[in-house]
Amino acid sequence: MSLQGKVGVVTGSTSGIGLGIARALAGAGADVMLNGLGDAAEIETIRAGIEKEFAVRVLYHGADMTKPLQIAEMIASAQAKLGGCDILVNNAGIQHVAPVEDFPPEKWEAVIAINLSAPFYAIRSAVPGMKQKNWGRIINIASAHGLVASVNKAAYISAKHGLVGLTKTVALETAQTGITCNAICPGWVRTPLVEAQIVARAQAANLEIEESGRRLLSEKQPSLRFTSPEQLGALAVFLCSDGASNMTGTSLPVDGGWTAQ
Ligand code: NAD
Repeated sequence: MSLQGKVGVVTGSTSGIGLGIARALAGAGADVMLNGLGDAAEIETIRAGIEKEFAVRVLYHGADMTKPLQIAEMIASAQAKLGGCDILVNNAGIQHVAPVEDFPPEKWEAVIAINLSAPFYAIRSAVPGMKQKNWGRIINIASAHGLVASVNKAAYISAKHGLVGLTKTVALETAQTGITCNAICPGWVRTPLVEAQIVARAQAANLEIEESGRRLLSEKQPSLRFTSPEQLGALAVFLCSDGASNMTGTSLPVDGGWTAQ
């Protein structure tokens, strides 16, 4: 499968799932715009490393996903410097865990801004260019928590359910074009976002980290295996292929059976 000549913008790709997807798109031949927070020197090492390994063009844009103007600027920059935003992967995300009555309003606002509003702002900026080319792929990284709920994650689950709804709406609005819009719904993936939860649970229950990880899996994920960023990257590349050109508006669980229960 070749994505040569295509340009992918992957939000939150300095770490975890986004980095796995950016690498997979580059591996399939796409030029890539990276985005995300982090140490400038480490980000430059990641950028240069992908560029060298896969012989594609890789740029980095530091847009803060809580800032609509910066998001629009990032899409415009991909169009100006790389020739388009053919593949948009809305991946940047944060988590906060607390019961609803203790949930800090500023955390609610931040989770909704990054996990739900940022995809909206990126999509509205990218769709006109995709329509002009009559080709586009929008991939929203939702979650098993876009399909079912758990306790203590009010903002995250609201945002991810919202993202599944946004995915369906954009799919309908673009159905008669060459654009598709789908959501990937991972279960547990062992990234820094989940590692923080594993550590917090280990401390609360006085457990070893690895035992805490096993318990986290056994509560929700019947396979008892973490999904890897590489597996999610492979699915993203498939969604960009001609074989997936009539798949739109779907929400695809990659969750070891979590949402089958
Ligand atoms: P991660 O913490 O490893 O990566 C998150 C990325 O988002 C990082 O690159 C970070 O810099 C970026 N980011 C955070 N705030 C930002 C901001 N204001 N502006 C720009 N970038 C910002 O987490 P991850 O687990 O790889 O999560 C990626 C996505 O996958 C998230 O949307 C998350 O909700 C989703 N997800 C993760 C899991 C899991 O088990 N890890 C499961 C389901 C869904």
